[in-house]
Amino acid sequence: MTDLSRTPHGGRLTVDLGALAANWRRLAAEAAGAETAAVIKADAYGCGIPAAAPALRAAGCRTFFVAHLSEAVSARAALPPDAVIYVLNGFPPGSAEAYRGADLRPVLGSRDEVAEWAAANRAGRRPAALHVDTGMNRLGLSVPEAMALAGDPVLADVAPSLVMSHLVSAEVPDDPLTARQVGDFARVRAAYPGVAASLANSAGVFLGRGPRHDLVRPGYALYGGNPTPGRPSPMRPVVRLEAEIAQVREVAPGESAGYNARWTAPSRRRLATLSLGYADGFPRSASGRGEARVGGVACPFVGTVSMDLIILDVTDAPAEAARRGAPALLIGDALDVDAVGRNAGTIGYEILTGLGRRYAREYRGG
Ligand SMILES: *Cc1c(COP(=O)(O)O)cnc(C)c1O
Repeated sequence: MTDLSRTPHGGRLTVDLGALAANWRRLAAEAAGAETAAVIKADAYGCGIPAAAPALRAAGCRTFFVAHLSEAVSARAALPPDAVIYVLNGFPPGSAEAYRGADLRPVLGSRDEVAEWAAANRAGRRPAALHVDTGMNRLGLSVPEAMALAGDPVLADVAPSLVMSHLVSAEVPDDPLTARQVGDFARVRAAYPGVAASLANSAGVFLGRGPRHDLVRPGYALYGGNPTPGRPSPMRPVVRLEAEIAQVREVAPGESAGYNARWTAPSRRRLATLSLGYADGFPRSASGRGEARVGGVACPFVGTVSMDLIILDVTDAPAEAARRGAPALLIGDALDVDAVGRNAGTIGYEILTGLGRRYAREYRGG
């Protein structure tokens, strides 16, 4: 059979599981004194739950967070029975049985969810997390609701194992909202003595002791995103994306390239075409401002990113590097996920979670 991972067209995505494990250990050292969990929602930020979850477990991680029940089922299949798995988005009506069956813990975010979980588990208390909304206005009990719930007999059937909230602007140092959330969360936490508390995401881990509490919940930083924007990243890159050049051509001044002729050659230029596009998660918004590296030289995207193709201006790249079959680097080295996000008018999170299904994937260091 043809080994498709060796065929030249399309993108080649390398996921470095050794770097993923090292990033978890780096975060665990930073958060020393608190437990370091791992957020593996959105298929481990595009890296793949079946490979990423066991690598994190082997590094020492015991607690995992996903967004959806379906992701929790994948995580359970990839992890040993002692791993604790929380489902951040709560639980849809009538699904308590599915949670019990796979030993999953919902993150309860409303009185209705608390009541349904309690009713479904009256025979034997089953652990769940409580989500308190301290400013996001998205998911979770309000602070007054959480305070009132603390003394409510319904909790006898819920067995809260974690009380958590989520920071609005952790990546903006000194945002006054963070201090307000830290204060509100400390009040809630005091109403739940003996229950572990969690507030910090990746950036929150680097905000000092205030937000750390008992358990930190990094996601992005595990996968190589910078949790300290504006400062050098303490994390190791995890994903690398390359694509082989499919064709090279010369265009004369005044000729256009791509759909709707959005780019016109200002002089004689050499163009290279890559076999990947927005169908592979490379955003169309990177048209005219993204770049790739060919032979180490920055080569701008020209024209619109199309479904399956991207055009590069490789005029400045060494001729021997800009030829059919030679690699172009799209994510990796100086083009870290944060830079790639910026070059597409978005954030690195969206680049990672959109990583294409058509890429040939290679896992290293597992
Ligand atoms: C996604 C998410 C995280 C992880 O955030 P990062 O910024 O990726 O570290 C933590 N907690 C909650 C509730 C989340 O939704």
